[in-house]
Amino acid sequence: MTATAPMTTDPIADSQSPAHDATRRCDVEPIHTPGSIQPHGLLLLFDAASGLLRHRAGDCERLLGLESDNNPSAQDLLGITIDDLIVSCLLNLNDEPVYVGLARAHDRRPLAMMAHRTGCFVAVELFEAEIEGSVASALDMAGAIFNRINASQNLVDACAIGVDQVRAISGFDSVMIYRFRDDGSGSVIAESRIAQATKYLGHRFPASDIPRQARELFRRNFIRMTPDVGYDPAPIMPPPSGAPIDMSHCILRSVAPIHIEYMKNMGLGASMSISLMVQGELWGLVVCHHYAPRLVPVEAQLFCRHVGASLSAFVLAFERAEAVRLEAIQTAALDSILESTLTSDDPERRLRTSCDELKRLFDCGGFVLVGDAGLIAGAGHYPDGERLSRLSSFVTSRLQGRQSYATDRLSEELAGAEELATDASGVLAIRLQTSRPLLAMWLRPEQIEEIDWAGDPRKDDGLSGTAQSLSPRNSFAAWRETVRGRSRPWARRQIVAVELFRTRVGYAMQRFRLAKANAELGEANALLAKQATTDPLTGLSNRRLFDDCLQKEWARAEREGSPVALIAIDIDHFKKYNDSFGHPAGDECLKQVAQAIGGTCREIDIAARTGGEEFALLLPGIDAAGAAIVAERVRTAIEALGIEHPHPEHRVITISLGVAAASPSETGDAAALIRAADRALYRVKATSRNGIAVDGEG
Ligand code: GH3
Ligand code: MG
Ligand code: MG
Repeated sequence: MTATAPMTTDPIADSQSPAHDATRRCDVEPIHTPGSIQPHGLLLLFDAASGLLRHRAGDCERLLGLESDNNPSAQDLLGITIDDLIVSCLLNLNDEPVYVGLARAHDRRPLAMMAHRTGCFVAVELFEAEIEGSVASALDMAGAIFNRINASQNLVDACAIGVDQVRAISGFDSVMIYRFRDDGSGSVIAESRIAQATKYLGHRFPASDIPRQARELFRRNFIRMTPDVGYDPAPIMPPPSGAPIDMSHCILRSVAPIHIEYMKNMGLGASMSISLMVQGELWGLVVCHHYAPRLVPVEAQLFCRHVGASLSAFVLAFERAEAVRLEAIQTAALDSILESTLTSDDPERRLRTSCDELKRLFDCGGFVLVGDAGLIAGAGHYPDGERLSRLSSFVTSRLQGRQSYATDRLSEELAGAEELATDASGVLAIRLQTSRPLLAMWLRPEQIEEIDWAGDPRKDDGLSGTAQSLSPRNSFAAWRETVRGRSRPWARRQIVAVELFRTRVGYAMQRFRLAKANAELGEANALLAKQATTDPLTGLSNRRLFDDCLQKEWARAEREGSPVALIAIDIDHFKKYNDSFGHPAGDECLKQVAQAIGGTCREIDIAARTGGEEFALLLPGIDAAGAAIVAERVRTAIEALGIEHPHPEHRVITISLGVAAASPSETGDAAALIRAADRALYRVKATSRNGIAVDGEG
């Protein structure tokens, strides 16, 4: 099999067609043992042990003056020993023919020798050499091409340079690059051609176009040439008596008849193809077409092979860098969505509003978030109503016990999925655990929908007539058939990325729930703490908080060498008030008094209800004189409330206040301060009421 192009109809889809028969024939035909060569060179098979010529093909008599019954040694015929040939062959790791120098034709013209091993033979192929320029200039040019390709910013640019260079070197009418996909189908991604040549750029072809055996040979020989489609095969002479000779690596190997037929259908006179290998896989082909016969000298072929190798190197480096770049972009986008989800008070809403960002993560047609009750939010194109719920329940069933679900051919898994094909031939799905389970689906349309119809090869293939069973036109139709109901496949890294996203959303939601529970717990604790330190009737601090504060303020005053004052307050004749107006009225009165006491304080003072109708004011940094002024202010404030009292003398609610102050750095302790204030209060009660006494005075 030599250079091929989009080729036949799909053998499965179209099993009755001659094209199908042809393809199948091609798939089983042992195309590596044709037993003949194309006659634009000579094939000599030397016995590796004896060094003597055993078989030959091509016009050996004309070029070498070799009689058919003559079996000379390699040394005698070509001037190179069999040992040297064997050593040269060993240089090439992959059994590809290696250039071993020049031999002389019968008429002294130079002949380029390419040698490789096959079975017990050393195969030498001879081509009329075209020696132009020096090794240095060839190397220089090779280096320049390599550099230009490697300086490309993207794959399209690199391939464009590649096809231009191969066309310049080979002189072919049209040079293009086919790129294979994982399933063996492919498309033409670069093209350089004369204006009259058929345009194939954008052309899609099915896997069956390039049969398995041909792909195998493409992996093994990196360049193939058919200079004249109308050639007469030159048989290997004498025909091998035992097993046929394996010609896998033979440059001159005769072309499979099916391929000749195909080339003729396309109106081609010559073709050449170069394999683009990336990491041991057949990534693509450089395919050259010529409308007349065209022989490219072997030296130029080697040059073209070098362009192919440069492209392969670029593709490998570019695809790796691209994968890393895409992964970084995806990770950053997912991180940012997660980050803002985490800090949002409503993570689910954040996800709902991220649909556009989520869709942009991958090359896809649409993205949807679906809940139990149906669509929650979406971006791009997606099925609606009943079609969406059918898709969702199918995908949900597939997600049972799995992290993710990915398909590029929904119609093969879900009966009746044809009507979903336009929006969702491919699905990549995960389940997200937010406050409720959500189904997240990235959707890809059927590939046919994605074709740039401006480049529809059917409009432009320049082919008509009847003998088109093997033609790009049919190839395109076959491709349409094979990709019906299919999307482009999801890459492994995309599946891994969404699975990671799912896990991280799960963690984020756990953290969110935990943070929310913690916040609620914090609020409850704060309330409890407040309740534990507040007097429920008046809202003032209770005895416990007052005691704590007194200890703290005492310690602080001790450190700072400042004074602390305390005012003990007791409502006068309160029992009587209660007795006269009742307990509820007494409570109401307590509240008013408390509010009035609190209202006379500074921020840093602490007003507390320390007992039934007893209050205390803690005044940090205030001495006895200052505290006496505050006490008087409080006393008047209560009196001014004018709360009616049955006592014949007082008539309104009044209070008695005992004031004490101390400098903790100098003397005593907090308990002594309380005792002193109580003492002063007692003095007021004992003498008058509605008055103030300062401890240590009077
Ligand atoms: P004095 O001027 O000597 O302080 O006379 P007093 O009647 O206020 O003295 P005493 O301490 O004997 O009485 C306190 C009264 O305060 C007893 C009780 O009826 C009243 N009391 C204590 N706690 C509460 C309360 O929570 N609500 C109400 N309504 N009354 C209370
Ligand atoms: Mg009392
Ligand atoms: Mg009292």
